[in-house]
Amino acid sequence: EKTIQRIAAGEVVERPASVVKELVENSLDADATRVSVAVDAGGVEGVRIRDDGVGMTEDELELSVREHTTSKISDIEDLEAGVGTLGFRGEALHTIGAVSRMTIRSKPRGGDVGTELQYEGGEVEEIRPAGCPEGTVVEVEDLFFNTPARRKFLKTTATEFDHVNTVVTHYALANPDVAVSLEHDDREVFATEGRGDLASTVLSVYGREVAEAMVPVEYDSGDVSVSGLVSHPETTRSTRDYLSTFVNDRYVTARVLREAVLDAYGGQLDADRYPFAVLFVEVAPDAVDVNVHPRKMEVRFDDETQVRQAVTDAVEEALLSNGL
Ligand code: ADP
Ligand code: MG
Repeated sequence: EKTIQRIAAGEVVERPASVVKELVENSLDADATRVSVAVDAGGVEGVRIRDDGVGMTEDELELSVREHTTSKISDIEDLEAGVGTLGFRGEALHTIGAVSRMTIRSKPRGGDVGTELQYEGGEVEEIRPAGCPEGTVVEVEDLFFNTPARRKFLKTTATEFDHVNTVVTHYALANPDVAVSLEHDDREVFATEGRGDLASTVLSVYGREVAEAMVPVEYDSGDVSVSGLVSHPETTRSTRDYLSTFVNDRYVTARVLREAVLDAYGGQLDADRYPFAVLFVEVAPDAVDVNVHPRKMEVRFDDETQVRQAVTDAVEEALLSNGL
């Protein structure tokens, strides 16, 4: 039974970046204003996430790692209505803990006692009072130590770190009011200030050269609104990785959105070069299906043509009004 559980866990938790994604979502759901992510060896050796969110009491902590437990939906009606929080399946901590050695330390806001829980391969090893600041720290070590087959699928440290970096970058961009930081092997990769504005977040994440080459996008057709930043046509990279699109505040990968952005640049981009873009597309919740595949972050619009046109118009207008 334990083996089946671990294999199932390996399907959900593919790689360090999937661990990081679930833990950052938990921190954001917990109302954190700071989320610090530190990984070792691309996250394969260790992932540590610290937040200043609402924290957990000893009882809540004990419950948090049980299968199918969540504090985020109270009944089935919530599920049907769609929930405002990012995670709601109540299985991330349990699942991650089944394929790693995990330690959680947490203290509720305003509480006077913290708790530490040690979890290994799906079992609680120890739970005891511990001194710690308000908020939560989750440490995940030796990912897939008990599922060697899954461990073999991991790529190089550099590739695994790229995936982690991509995930943390998207959450940082989507949450300018949260101070998000990323460290790799004790070296700071980026740290945002959480001041609330996208421009300063882009500066922290992508650096000054890119930040200075960005122009604002602000567009509303009534049905579709588009806002964010896009780069001058000569500030490009050879990968699409810096073209980030969010639909109703959720990061998505959608070819239709990418192509819509590229269309706006017309013939101005060199071959195989891609601009920087951080674009937030808002549509009525019932005009979009973001759950086509939760893990792949795909999206399907009821009226794809309309959305595509809106994004192209929005970016074109931004470039034109800046003389580009
Ligand atoms: P879900 O996020 O789907 O509820 P998880 O397994 O990710 O399921 O988390 C289980 C529960 O543990 C959450 O519902 C929440 O109550 C609690 N929890 C997890 N991470 C945190 C955190 N960083 N701060 C406060 N509570 C947390
Ligand atoms: Mg969760």
